[in-house]
Amino acid sequence: MKAIVYEGANQLQVREVPMPQIPEGWGLVRVRYAGICGTDLNIYAGTHPRAKAPLVMGHEFSGVMAESAPGFPKGTRVTVSPLLSCGECTPCREGNGHVCNDLKLIGIDRDGAMADYTVVPLERIVALPDGISDQMGAAVEPVAVGVHTIRECGCRPGDNALIFGGGAIGLIHALVLRHAGASCVVIAEPDPSRAQLGRKLGFEVIGSSEEELERIVNKATGGNGFDWVFDCAGVQPVADKLLDMVKVKGCIVIVASYKKPASMPFIKGMFKEARFQFVRVYRQKDFEIAALLAGEDPAFEKIITHVLPADRAQEGFDLLTRPGSGAVKVIFEF
Ligand SMILES: [Zn+2]
Ligand SMILES: [Zn+2]
Repeated sequence: MKAIVYEGANQLQVREVPMPQIPEGWGLVRVRYAGICGTDLNIYAGTHPRAKAPLVMGHEFSGVMAESAPGFPKGTRVTVSPLLSCGECTPCREGNGHVCNDLKLIGIDRDGAMADYTVVPLERIVALPDGISDQMGAAVEPVAVGVHTIRECGCRPGDNALIFGGGAIGLIHALVLRHAGASCVVIAEPDPSRAQLGRKLGFEVIGSSEEELERIVNKATGGNGFDWVFDCAGVQPVADKLLDMVKVKGCIVIVASYKKPASMPFIKGMFKEARFQFVRVYRQKDFEIAALLAGEDPAFEKIITHVLPADRAQEGFDLLTRPGSGAVKVIFEF
């Protein structure tokens, strides 16, 4: 079968690989679409701490059941949560398998879905609702990240929010916040092409300069600061600003994975009695909710900016590593 294979730092190949073996309790999926995630870009750059070449990448995907499995007849349209939890550690036993001490993912720790076929644990499969396209089915995973954040941190209707980062994850958080009843959602994104997509989705998008941030905090919150500040960027210049933008008793939510340790003026947080919340991936329930939400609201599909045949894998990765390309979510067709 055909697969997109990570062959080492900045090297990938579209080539034939053997069909995967199906472990006990797993099922075989014929992949239709598989998307590129920020994590895949790390793998491709050779900087992911766990991924080892050669590896079939891909943990965001949709497809159909290639063979019948209990609860999923052959041909059922599906997407799959790629998490592999150990089931035995204390977090797993306490119902928090998404932060398992030994969390692994399909497409990172074992071969994934940028291929004609992939194998998945049956308990991770989510049947796609009728309203969702196969293409959007491949982007349920990043939507689940946003659903998880908002459910985990408990935003309430009427709350206001500032999101740093207008890539796929930032935009998805904005859309999920809108569904959760947020009164005002502002996105800070310096890249003009990404900012444009945010505006098309109906959000106020600002740059990230000192002046623009000061203007927006005055205009949107009367200078009080935002109830919620979401960090979907993960870089030091954003960490510098988080505590200035949050209100007294407000909450900063770290969604991005910081590649380097960040420093922060904690004294500002103390003066505000601000809270910090960190989030990681999603629960199975978040994944199911994401599939429903993404099927109901066509706005989510607008984050998919490029659909390419698998043979043009290199072009897809180049789009996402080239600043100003305007690419937000790139998916491959199999
Ligand atoms: Zn992802
Ligand atoms: Zn575990």
